[in-house]
Amino acid sequence: MPNFEAVENFLKAKDIFYEKNVNMKNNTSFKIGGICKYVCYPNDILKAVNVIKLCINLKIPYFFLGNGSNLLFSDEGFAGVAICTKKLNKINVLSNNRVYCEAGVLLYRLCQFCAIHCFSNLEPLYGIPGSLGGAIFMNAGAYNREIKDVLQSVVSIDVNGRVYEQNLKDIYFSYRNSVYQNNGHFIFAAVLKFENESVEHINSKMQYFLNKRIESQPLNFPSAGSTFKRPKFYIAAKLIEECGLKGLRVGGAKVSEKHCGFIINVGGASCLDVKNLIKKIQKTVSLKKNVSLTPEIKFI
Ligand SMILES: Cc1cc2nc3c(=O)[nH]c(=O)nc-3n(C[C@H](O)[C@H](O)[C@H](O)COP(=O)(O)OP(=O)(O)OC[C@H]3O[C@@H](n4cnc5c(N)ncnc54)[C@H](O)[C@@H]3O)c2cc1C
Repeated sequence: MPNFEAVENFLKAKDIFYEKNVNMKNNTSFKIGGICKYVCYPNDILKAVNVIKLCINLKIPYFFLGNGSNLLFSDEGFAGVAICTKKLNKINVLSNNRVYCEAGVLLYRLCQFCAIHCFSNLEPLYGIPGSLGGAIFMNAGAYNREIKDVLQSVVSIDVNGRVYEQNLKDIYFSYRNSVYQNNGHFIFAAVLKFENESVEHINSKMQYFLNKRIESQPLNFPSAGSTFKRPKFYIAAKLIEECGLKGLRVGGAKVSEKHCGFIINVGGASCLDVKNLIKKIQKTVSLKKNVSLTPEIKFI
């Protein structure tokens, strides 16, 4: 049994804000999940280092939480600590069209900040409802642009509490993947580099990409975005539609009729509903199309 009393005493002593028995339905875009024992919110690098070291030393289970927009959280909950980036939200301009940004800053805010400063290239990502940390972890992207395209370096913390600044070549970005999916580092902040353009032009491009999302995605239902990664040579949504799975439902989880790549929560969906629906889709697409679909969403 983890020593939760020690966790709480430590968080209080180090002045790290935390919440107890947090309902993850209210902290994920899917609106699914049980209770997370602790969610803590370090607001500087020392506090982040301290929390990671604490969890490692006391063998407390932990995971990193951004804005919860790519997560399917267990119905059983999590008997450990979510280390959340929501209070890591500093952002400022550096020399040579560069921006320093902490991991908890939402992509919406980062895009708007860039527009104000006439920094262009992030516009296609406007509307992705994640944090910068989550976007780097996932190498989030849209409309032929990925977060890696504007990154210069990333500051991260390893499981021993050591701080690194890594350049792009050390991060091994690929489609919806980065080194952080394997090395257990906490992404703390990043330096991004942009081109100059007029604020009007940037704003109109942001609006254009946002409209494309509104037209094509089921944004009126809770979801975690695209359920599956794009298989080589195929489009997941098209395969799912061609297999006749549009609108397929398990409990409160349903294949969106607007965009078959999305599983939506049409009311009271459980984690198990989504998992069973994922299995059905994978089985059918494999049988009918001989293509295996890999989930893009992350399971906690
Ligand atoms: C309506 C909708 C539309 C979407 N559209 C797109 C899209 O166009 N393109 C796209 O790529 N994605 C899209 N997504 C998915 C999601 O928004 C992105 O993957 C986003 O980058 C996740 O960020 P987050 O902060 O919400 O991460 P979370 O969901 O909180 O976490 C995702 C993963 O990242 C890890 N993580 C988060 N922060 C850190 C950190 N600081 N350090 C280490 N690990 C961390 C978590 O442990 C987890 O494994 C969409 C989602 C929704 C709901």
